[in-house]
Amino acid sequence: MIRKKILVTGGAGFVGSHLCERLLNDGNEVVCLDNYFTGQKQNVIHLLKNPFFELIRHDVTTPFYIEVDEIYNLACPASPIHYQYNPIKTIKTSVMGAINMLGLAKRIRAKVLQASTSEVYGDPQIHPQVETYWGNVNPIGERSCYDEGKRAAETLFIDYHKQNRVRIKIARIFNTYGPRMHPHDGRVVSNFVVQALQNQDITIYGDGSQTRSFQYVDDLVEGMIRLMATSDDFTGPVNLGNPNEFTILELAEKVIRLTGSKSTIVRMPLPPDDPVQRQPDITLASQVLGWEPEIQLEEGLVKTIDYFRTIL
Ligand code: NAD
Ligand code: UDP
Repeated sequence: MIRKKILVTGGAGFVGSHLCERLLNDGNEVVCLDNYFTGQKQNVIHLLKNPFFELIRHDVTTPFYIEVDEIYNLACPASPIHYQYNPIKTIKTSVMGAINMLGLAKRIRAKVLQASTSEVYGDPQIHPQVETYWGNVNPIGERSCYDEGKRAAETLFIDYHKQNRVRIKIARIFNTYGPRMHPHDGRVVSNFVVQALQNQDITIYGDGSQTRSFQYVDDLVEGMIRLMATSDDFTGPVNLGNPNEFTILELAEKVIRLTGSKSTIVRMPLPPDDPVQRQPDITLASQVLGWEPEIQLEEGLVKTIDYFRTIL
C-alpha cells in the first residue's frame, strides 16, 4: 500500500476530526491544520499518539507551505451562529482559504477537495436540489458571508482547474451531524440533543415545518474519500447528503422520544433567510462514486445521543 501524505484544513472540527481519523486508519499520513475557532484539540487528542499524525495551528487566510499528495479543505465555521459572529472573517476564510490551498495545490501538484455546501442553493426553488441548479441566494443577508463565500470558493476551484489544470473535487455537503459536534455549536441536531438530555426546552425556530435532510458523519466521510479517489476528469460539484427529509418538528419529536426526555417544545423567532426546504438529489454521487448513505436518522441519532451523554 502507498502511504499518502494528506493535509486536512479545519481538521480539528467536527467533520475534519472524523476525516483525519479515517484517513489515518486507512494507512495515510495526516497533517491537520486548524486555528481552533470552532474546532478543538480535544477532537483529535486521541490521534496524537499516532506518529503519522501531525497537528498544526494555522489560519488558512494566510499562505501555508507543505509537501502533500492531497488536500481536503474544510476550514470554515459551519454553524450559523458562529459564521455570523464575524462575517468578514467568514468570507475571508472561504475565499482566501480557497486561494491559498489552490495556490499550494498548483505549486506542489496536489489534488484538492473543497468542502462546499448545500447553502450554495440558498432557499431553493427546485426540489430536491440537483447539481445543475444555480440556487437562490441572498447576496446581502445574514447568511451571505457563508453562502457567497462558499460560492466564490467553488468559482475559484473551477477556474484554477480550467486555467492551471489543478486537480480539484467539489463536494456539496448537506446537513451533517454526529459525535464531536460542539455542545454549543448551535446547529439543530446538537442543540436538540443537548437540550433534551438536560430536560431543557427544545427551541424550534419558526413553526418547525421547514425541512432538512440529515446525514450521519461516517457516511459523509466515506463519500468524500470516494470523491477524492475519482479520476482527474471528474471535478464535481457533487451532492453528498442523505435524501431522507424531515421537518424540524419531526426531528424534535424523535430526539425527545429517543432520549426519554421531559423537555417541552418552545417556539422561537425564525432567523432571516432560513431555507424552507432542503433535500439532496444524490443520483450523481450514486452513479460516479457508487455511494449512498447507509445510516438513517434514528440510528445516527442514537449514536449522537450516546456521545453527548458521555460529555455532558
Ligand atoms: P466545524 O465548525 O466543526 O469545523 C470547521 C473547522 O475549521 C474548525 O475546526 C475551525 O476551527 C476551523 N477553522 C475555521 N476557520 C479557520 C481558519 N480561518 N483557519 C483554519 N481553520 C479554521 O464545522 P464542520 O461541520 O466540521 O464543517 C467542516 C466543513 O464542512 C466546513 O467547511 C463546512 O462549511 C462544511 N460543511 C459542513 C456541513 C455540516 O452539516 N456539518 C454542511 C455543509 C458544509
Ligand atoms: N433550528 C431550530 N432550533 C435550533 C437550531 C436550529 O429550529 O435550536 C432550525 C433552523 O432555523 C433551521 C434548521 O433548524 O431551519 C437547521 O438549522 P441549522 O443551524 O442546523 O442548519 P442550516 O441548515 O439552517 O444551516
